[in-house]
Parts: sequence; C-alpha cells; structure tokens
Amino acid sequence: MNIFLPNYFFNKIWDITEEDLKIIGARLLILDVDNTLTEHKQTFLHPKGEEWLTAVKNNTQIQLVIMSNTNNLQIKKIAEEKSIPYLGKAHKPLGYGFKMVMSKVSVKKSEVAIIGDQIYTDILGGNLFGIKTILVTPIKLENTFLFKLKRKLEAPFLNQIKNKKRK
Ligand SMILES: [Mg+2]
Repeated sequence: MNIFLPNYFFNKIWDITEEDLKIIGARLLILDVDNTLTEHKQTFLHPKGEEWLTAVKNNTQIQLVIMSNTNNLQIKKIAEEKSIPYLGKAHKPLGYGFKMVMSKVSVKKSEVAIIGDQIYTDILGGNLFGIKTILVTPIKLENTFLFKLKRKLEAPFLNQIKNKKRK
C-alpha cells in the first residue's frame, strides 16, 4: 500500500452519495474543512458543502467530526453552527488529532474514514493512523506560493489516482 494514495477519490465532498458511504462502510467520518467544505480560509461553508453535511446528518447514522489544522475560531464557528464536534490545530498528518477523536468515540478504526483535499496532511495522516481515506479535489485552488508548491508535490500521486481510475 502506498501511504500517499487514498482508498477512495471523489471530485468534491458533495459528490459522495449516501450509497457511496454505505459501500465505504464508515460509521464515523472525520472531515477536513479548508477547501473540503469551505473555500480556502473562508469561515462559512460552501452552500453545496452545507447541503451535503445536513443530508448526511439527517439521513444517516454516521457520526461526524470536524478536524482541521487551522485555528480554532474558524472551525469553532462552522462546527457550532452545524452542531458537529470539532478539533482545531489537529497537526495532521501526525497521529495526535486522530487519537484524540478516537478516544471520544466507540467505533473501530476500520469503521472510520477521513475526507480531505490534501495528500500530505489528510490522506497521509489517515493512512498512517490506519483508517480509510477519501481524497476530494479542493473547492478552489489557493494562490499562495506555499500552496502552489504543495499542489505541485501532490501531482504525481494525483496522476496515479487518475490512471488507476481509468482501468
Ligand atoms: Mg483542506
């Protein structure tokens, strides 16, 4: 297994249907926020992200938790609005945040999946911790130098994922 490759790949989080979630078999979803549910650095949910969250909350038994590497305030606001537990400054890809989340729930690792847009934080972190990983493409690409570099470093893996999908 390549620790940089996700188990599943979708275009956007709102493309993941309830049927897909059943197949994936997750009872707990760990959700990234920045560029997964919001545009980069925004403090409000993308309307389609919000719709998806509400539908999953209302129509499934799946537990949700928001886990982000960014500051608590952005995350706090979004999580409180949607009444979803949250963890900010999670230090993905390190295990700290994942361990913290798992200590508060009673689901097995095999029933947990992370959904995020970054290979080097969300996917690497989830794979190292031993849960299922779901990569989505960012809602809107960032313009900063650091992010452009990060996205360049992700490119070889994205190509592998696309090639795999074509088979
Ligand atoms: Mg993100």
